[in-house]
Amino acid sequence: MEHSFADLWGAISRVGDVASGTLPREIEDRTVHRMKGKNVRVVAKMFLFGVWFAAFVGCSADHRLADSDSDPFNVVLISIDTLAADHLGLYGYSRNTSPNLDRYAESAIVFENAYSTAPKTPESHMSMFTSLYPSVHGVFTIKDPDKLHVLDSEVRTLSEVLKQDGYTTAGFHGGGYVDGQFGFGRGFDEYHQGEQRRAEEWLWKNGKKGKFFLFFHTYRVHDPYTPTPPYDRRFDSDYSGPIVHDMESLMKMAESTEWIDYSTTFWSQVDKSDPDEVAHVVSLYDGVIAEMDENLVDLLSAIDRHAPRTIVIILSDHGEEFGQHGMFTHSQLYDEILHVPLIIRHPDRTGGERIAERVSLIDLAPTILEMLSIPAEAQFQGRALFDRIDRAGNARPVFSEFPIGERMALIRRDRKLMLTSGHEEFYDLRRDPEERRDLRLSEIERAPDDSAIELDALRKEMARVSRDNAFVRDSLGLREATEAPTDEVLQQLKALGYLE
Ligand SMILES: [Zn+2]
Repeated sequence: MEHSFADLWGAISRVGDVASGTLPREIEDRTVHRMKGKNVRVVAKMFLFGVWFAAFVGCSADHRLADSDSDPFNVVLISIDTLAADHLGLYGYSRNTSPNLDRYAESAIVFENAYSTAPKTPESHMSMFTSLYPSVHGVFTIKDPDKLHVLDSEVRTLSEVLKQDGYTTAGFHGGGYVDGQFGFGRGFDEYHQGEQRRAEEWLWKNGKKGKFFLFFHTYRVHDPYTPTPPYDRRFDSDYSGPIVHDMESLMKMAESTEWIDYSTTFWSQVDKSDPDEVAHVVSLYDGVIAEMDENLVDLLSAIDRHAPRTIVIILSDHGEEFGQHGMFTHSQLYDEILHVPLIIRHPDRTGGERIAERVSLIDLAPTILEMLSIPAEAQFQGRALFDRIDRAGNARPVFSEFPIGERMALIRRDRKLMLTSGHEEFYDLRRDPEERRDLRLSEIERAPDDSAIELDALRKEMARVSRDNAFVRDSLGLREATEAPTDEVLQQLKALGYLE
């Protein structure tokens, strides 16, 4: 994308306005609009936050990717829960797990190095919807089954922004941690737990009625991995070990129809210390991915058929680990869990692009609004990706956290600092993408070089991001909001294996 001198000059002028204490008009209008009925202290805080934000964001506010004279684009956001980028062909996986997605991505923009803000479903999805880090938006995985963390009403979600702009909005999701009770349903005309078929039907009925935002989320590749034939045998047809994977048998063995019971039953069969058994579990995971890849074709075709002028975004909230760093499923901050697919198919950019810059899903909401020519929200911590990458490349660090205050990871220029309850790990992702050699334990002590300087810089950067998060949360006046979960949500969370 090219930028004229006038664009650049406009950007410099806007930064100048901020430096001299004048808010860009758009931010000022929105701040004033949102302040109606709020007390003066919050107004003052928001004003300061606006100045801070404008200085932070600088020149991205007026960027336009879309042609404002044309019909508006629709947006379909597809979140395949627990889909690790490294298990997809288009991200270099050796197995043929995703032939359809690979083909689809040939006419899309593929972000090769996209990262989630957290390894857990509610934290990560809420970052996508609010462009706030988990410690700011405060929607967490449940620790106490009587308290469910709900999004503060001060925060505007992506769907609320789109709704206000005249979009028809609908969400079909897998329930549990993306239930409407957490705040995910805000801004949606309809928000239901539902299968892919319902999203396809919705497209058939509404695809040509005017601009829309459709969110589809599925747990199909989430554990326990239960691919149906022929996908269950696709990647190790010779397996003769003890692991039973089909849902019906698992339910019979568990004497239950609750997911938690057959999930527990599934994992109780797995000898995690036996590499062959772990390899089979990986093959089952790859099998559900291949099955999902085949099924997704119907939804992608429905979009093409009923709403061709649609920006389609396919991503995941986190990946999955299989003992590479001692644990299974998803709770640590290594790359197998944080590196997620991010594929954007834009009707006006179908030449097939690969973007190698490291980006974060914190940037999702501003990037969607950028593509729709809708101004970003003042609250956003992320930034519009195309503007940033097209202009100057991306040197911004990527930050992830979970659980809040205990685990943090920060990546900058291929170096990654991880903090787990005060214990540091330090990796060179370019030379050691599997995070096997902790540089803290070897190179730095032996031969202090740029690694020591880089480690120090990463520590300072991590401290800065933590301070910024506390500042933004305070500036927005966010308070911890909890509710007792409804019986339905409680059952779903149990079913998904999150609560005992
Ligand atoms: Zn998830």
